[in-house]
Amino acid sequence: MEAQLVAGLNTAQRAAVTSPASVLQVLAPPGSGKTKTLTCRVAYQIAHHGLKPQNVICCTFTIKASREMRERLRGLVGRESEAKLVLGTFHSICRRYLVAYGHLIGIRKGFDIADSTDSLNIVKRIIKRLNLSIEPRAARSRISSHKAKGKKLEDLPKTPQKQVEKQEFITVFHEYEAALATSQLLDYDDLLVRCVDLFRAYPGCASNVEALLIDEFQDTNIVQFELMKLLSSASRRVTIVGDPDQSIYGFRAAEIENLRRMKTFYPETVVINLEENYRSASAVLRLAQAVIEQDTSRPQKRLKATHCYGTKPVLRRLPNPNEEALWIANEIKRMTVMTGGLLVHSDFAILLRSAHLSLLIEKALANSGIPYRMVGGQRFFDRVEIRIIIDYLRTISHPDNNQAFLAIINVPSRKIGDSTVAELIKMGEDRKLSLWGVVQKVLSGDLSPQKRLSKPAEQELGRLGSLIKNARQKMDTMIPAAVPSKLIDLIVKSLDFENYLKKKYKDDHEDRFENVKELITHASDVLLQPSSEEQLTPINGIEQQSSDGAQEVLTQFLANIVLSTDVENSEEGNDKPRVTISTIHSAKGLEWPVVFIPAVYEGSIPHSRADDTDEERRLLYVAMTRAQALLTLTFPLTQSRDQLESSLSQFLPPKIHHHFASVGPLFDDKTLADVASILRRAPPSQENLVRSLQSMAGTDSQIDDVWPSDGTRRPFAMLPADSQTLPEFGRPLAEVLATN
Ligand code: ATP
Ligand code: MG
Repeated sequence: MEAQLVAGLNTAQRAAVTSPASVLQVLAPPGSGKTKTLTCRVAYQIAHHGLKPQNVICCTFTIKASREMRERLRGLVGRESEAKLVLGTFHSICRRYLVAYGHLIGIRKGFDIADSTDSLNIVKRIIKRLNLSIEPRAARSRISSHKAKGKKLEDLPKTPQKQVEKQEFITVFHEYEAALATSQLLDYDDLLVRCVDLFRAYPGCASNVEALLIDEFQDTNIVQFELMKLLSSASRRVTIVGDPDQSIYGFRAAEIENLRRMKTFYPETVVINLEENYRSASAVLRLAQAVIEQDTSRPQKRLKATHCYGTKPVLRRLPNPNEEALWIANEIKRMTVMTGGLLVHSDFAILLRSAHLSLLIEKALANSGIPYRMVGGQRFFDRVEIRIIIDYLRTISHPDNNQAFLAIINVPSRKIGDSTVAELIKMGEDRKLSLWGVVQKVLSGDLSPQKRLSKPAEQELGRLGSLIKNARQKMDTMIPAAVPSKLIDLIVKSLDFENYLKKKYKDDHEDRFENVKELITHASDVLLQPSSEEQLTPINGIEQQSSDGAQEVLTQFLANIVLSTDVENSEEGNDKPRVTISTIHSAKGLEWPVVFIPAVYEGSIPHSRADDTDEERRLLYVAMTRAQALLTLTFPLTQSRDQLESSLSQFLPPKIHHHFASVGPLFDDKTLADVASILRRAPPSQENLVRSLQSMAGTDSQIDDVWPSDGTRRPFAMLPADSQTLPEFGRPLAEVLATN
């Protein structure tokens, strides 16, 4: 068993997986197998230390990462154990604890979660209502970082502030918390903060945790650090993996200091470093290394490449962003054709500093017929037509959720004006009623707004009320797992939603209705999937809330949507290979054979609004180290908007330009062999090995090009003489090229 768990790992990775240390930090550069090591350690601890999978908690940074880890663990520990593991993002894990034990600290069973759109909307409404001058986004992010630091409303100054902005922020914060409370909502930060409250008040809730493992630890914040302490208070068994050079969430209150704090809090901490990079060609690593080394305050690290030298990265100037996008689309086309099927669309990623840069690129790909998916930009669930349905569902789930009800009260239009809605809310506030509560009273004639509703408006509102009540009643008679899809069906039919979209969106109503159908498919899929969100194992003496029945299924369906970070949910099962367009932030931890990083100019990266240049540099480093074989950076000479001439990013000074190729990658046998060797883990061509070894001599770089002789691959002397053929790829390269 042990042999199987550590098979293929190098010595340092093996040491990390099997380390008897109770508190372990694995610190290592990108692509060195941190996530892989963490996954194996989970399996190892279950197999060798006899830990119960249901008592092992494993935190990943994204839902996608947790899904991938689950899949790998299924193979390692078996399906049954895998299903029991508490594996997810900090937010989803905290939600599970609050669902089970939240009642102990006064959190209503089946609470709803306000996502970032809700939170921003709440703040906007407050600012508008009180006529404040503070910028909504700024206020929202200040509230969030305040909470992420573990501070509460009570920690704000109580006396009036002289500075207008400060005082306004305090006012908005107070109102914001009140709005959440009225609608019984928790925002993202509350999920963590309230869980800390829970564990502090009832440490017993975390008493059966036997091990805690955390990926991407460099991006945790103070509250997450607190959660680590509380979740491990019984076992004092923690493993974290991370890389200080990849800390890119400082803007969201992540604390790189947590690495040092952890050592202070657990003096028994053992640190293991991994050095060998299994991801990228060393030509890619050298450039990445040259970029990150410009930060002289960071400790110098060794980074060993295990792949061949590869093809040097390309830096390409284009006249303007439009040409840039077209060029990238064209390159992707060229590479897929020229490599004769070795590279497919899913081997490509385009990584962006800001999501808005995707517009032209999406257009160019679409025009070239290249399928793509966008990650980290607008989520599937944030599309207008989807959001409407979701808000109906949320209202049906909890009519007292003012945020949801407000979003749909006049959608489709019921001829209820903004001022009437504002008055209804005010009436509710005065009577301690929710908006739904007020509407009920208005419909029954017990209350009336000053400016009476018109007859048609009243009728429409009556219809809305019946729809919601009717849905709530029907829900209890449905098979619980079918509730989400049946309710969506009901909403779509009752609103004649297809027609509504047709009238409102003349040009693209068909696409939008397709999205709605996709949502229904997604909701029906929930029926088929075994719930990965099982209940926590019961703890003696602490009552856990049960979670089954229609209401619970619906609440969980909605929570999963709110906690999902991108479009992945909607497109699962659709296995057509697609190019990935992603923000750099969302590309963390992932890898692709070919990576493009457009817009590498001053103002884009480093971003003009960013105040931490080092973090921007790390962001470029993260982006570059996603590439396995071919890396291309592009930048437009002018930015179309204002015809300003752009200058190349300061992170790419002339002194490191020798790391770039003088021409683009040519698809000769050598390049292809490189790509194939990295992609399919086949040995590189002999010529390339010689080139690698030659380039090793006399370099100033920290990177060692080593072809490992630890048995994982054949030493090059044993390569077949005819290295023109790649047995792993199955076809002679000459033939591949000839057919294209
Ligand atoms: P990042 O910092 O970007 O998150 P990471 O350190 O978590 O990177 P992984 O994603 O775990 O790195 O591994 C990078 C790649 O290297 C993966 O494809 C992984 O399967 C592969 N890899 C890791 N260790 C080995 C090994 N010992 N032998 C072969 N391949 C390996
Ligand atoms: Mg990783």
